Amino acid sequence: MESAGTEPESCPPAPEPPGSPALPAEEPERSEAAPEPQQEAEGVPPPAQGRRPSGPGSKGQAKRCGAGKGGRAKRGSTRRAGEEGGRLARRAHVTVDSSKAKTSLEALKLSLRQLRWREFPFGRRLPCDIYWHGVSFHDNDIFSGQVNKFPGMTEMVRKITLSRAVRTMQDLFPEEYNFYPHSWILPEEFPLFVAEVRMMKESDPPWKPTFIVKPDGGCQGDGIYLIKDPSDIRLAGNLQSRPAVVQEYISKPLLIDKLKFDIRLYVLLKSLEPLEIYIAKDGLSRFCTEPYQEPTLKNLHQVFMHLTNYSLNIHSGNFIHSDNVNTGSKRTFSSVLYRLSSKGVDIKKLWSDIISLVIKTVIALTPELKVYYQSDIPAGKPGPTCFQILGFDILLMKNLKPVLLEVNANPSMRIEHEQELSPGVFENVPSPVDEEIKVAVIRDTLRLMDPYKKKKKDNQLPDTCMDSKQRFPPISSRLPQSNLQFSKFAIVRSQLSENAADTKDELLEPGSTDQLEHISKNPEASLPSLCLKQVFPKYAKQFNYLRLVDRMAALFIRFLGVKGTMKLGPTGFRTFIRNCKLSNSNFSMASVDILYIDITRRWNSMGLDQRESGMCLQAFVEAFFCLAQRRYKSLSLQEQVASLIDFCEYHLAILDEKRLVCSRGITERRAALVTCQPDGLHLTAATHAPLLNRMTAANKRTDYRNHRS
Ligand code: ADP
Repeated sequence: MESAGTEPESCPPAPEPPGSPALPAEEPERSEAAPEPQQEAEGVPPPAQGRRPSGPGSKGQAKRCGAGKGGRAKRGSTRRAGEEGGRLARRAHVTVDSSKAKTSLEALKLSLRQLRWREFPFGRRLPCDIYWHGVSFHDNDIFSGQVNKFPGMTEMVRKITLSRAVRTMQDLFPEEYNFYPHSWILPEEFPLFVAEVRMMKESDPPWKPTFIVKPDGGCQGDGIYLIKDPSDIRLAGNLQSRPAVVQEYISKPLLIDKLKFDIRLYVLLKSLEPLEIYIAKDGLSRFCTEPYQEPTLKNLHQVFMHLTNYSLNIHSGNFIHSDNVNTGSKRTFSSVLYRLSSKGVDIKKLWSDIISLVIKTVIALTPELKVYYQSDIPAGKPGPTCFQILGFDILLMKNLKPVLLEVNANPSMRIEHEQELSPGVFENVPSPVDEEIKVAVIRDTLRLMDPYKKKKKDNQLPDTCMDSKQRFPPISSRLPQSNLQFSKFAIVRSQLSENAADTKDELLEPGSTDQLEHISKNPEASLPSLCLKQVFPKYAKQFNYLRLVDRMAALFIRFLGVKGTMKLGPTGFRTFIRNCKLSNSNFSMASVDILYIDITRRWNSMGLDQRESGMCLQAFVEAFFCLAQRRYKSLSLQEQVASLIDFCEYHLAILDEKRLVCSRGITERRAALVTCQPDGLHLTAATHAPLLNRMTAANKRTDYRNHRS
């Protein structure tokens, strides 16, 4: 885990009373292009989106738009369009509440300035479009707009929870999820850890493994240590006091200049449903500060050799701060890729492996996130929509295989670091490499989340708003040093429309005043192309088959019943069994109850969330695996589970159809479509094609099973 300066990442957030204002230590600030204050008092109407109630100001807006039209009719159409467009653009300033941004504030401010959006550093009486939280979703009560955190994400990426979620996927798809090191959860799996290591050593005597012990909820390398054997005294001492994950240590990492390094990649989870994932095209590489040697009992304790954490290595005398993003102990990932490609490494393949790792990891996290989401923001209640930037820490093995180390829900967005000027005297100095990467990630995340985007497009006027790619390539592509676009200096350039006197001749073709107007109306035109690349749903076809637990979570959520709950009660579980037609003469409802009690009791005894009683999603998944194994004995676990999900979805679809038709209560139509009879449903092919397709698929699977057995 990395952090600029001393900012902790993904450590459990310090509890904060709801609604307590975490004000930045500076004066309130208005973004440069902010409209007059009275505009806020009138209430700039938010766009209709998500659960946001439609704003009261929409009528007023239309009025303002229409006013004075006649007077302007005499002017040239370009000019008129420009003015109207200007007003449209002004009206469409996105509002961002940055009062909870904490250490991401500086990078956020720079991003907002580049976008010329309105910042509210002390919060706002009226709702904002976007709320930027530095720590977690639960910073405030928000009923509309968008928040840059998902409920439950911090919990989901804790070391134990992440390991559990990946483990479930490894059970189903062992090949696909081999990018995560073999891990055991302590203390509960200590006996398993001992037994498995002994077995592996017996079957492969030359194997001399090393393990890394990571305390749950730890960060910045805190409390991490390496061991050579499960009998290590340190492990025994900590076992009961601190839950942890013990993991196979990757002892042959890829080295650059003999140093171990890892990669911090920024990933935007834009939406959970439908799943939308973006990856930043560049990230950071954090280097160790002692030459690497494979672990031996002698060097196990050398953190500067084995741990790539910035927060640790910065204390090494060998740490190199560099103003150049291509050198030093923290560099851009692109500079590392450049170096690797010059040595003949297939960079395309490496990127494709990394993208695949990211998508698969997010797929492992989403089922439980959906449970949190429906609990915090139940459907039908007013609430915000969410997005989140995640920090993925990835290690490259010597053979270039990427390995997932961890996911940070709260990656450091600091763009400065502490420097010791003289003994004991520290100063915050800008960190160019952090600024280059992080400001772009925040800015482009905001661009993707822009609630007015569609509206802006619709409002573009044909004679002034050109097809920007053809008529006016982005300024960034014309600037000699595109890197400058990301720096504080570049803001000056990106505000070209306001201070264009010197640069306009250089950048614009003669006679292109409308182009200048275009930039002034649309700051987007002066920004570099997006640094975030969509990978899902773009590659959905390749990865959708992995989303089995997601489908199980949908079943689980359906039977949760009470809004806001995260655990399934015994009645909900029984209803699930009954509605999905899972009990029969071989599996009575009494057995169902025993299964429920056994699994639920075990999961609850693991000391997980005790606030609610009942069956958590992970326990439900385990119960589902049991049911699938009982029912489809001869198949692989993956096939068993997929078949049972199909079976359940099929029966629930029939049930839904039946309820729908019955609730319509139109007897004649019902007779034509479907007959509700005690023995079930009779469907007509034309009206129930999707359902019949599922039935055919289910029949095919039965045939397949018969064929195999
Ligand atoms: P933290 O959250 O405390 O930073 P990490 O899981 O990121 O914990 O681990 C800290 C560092 O330890 C990583 O940055 C990496 O250098 C090293 N590390 C972690 N797991 C492994 C592993 N399985 N193999 C090799 N090195 C590892």
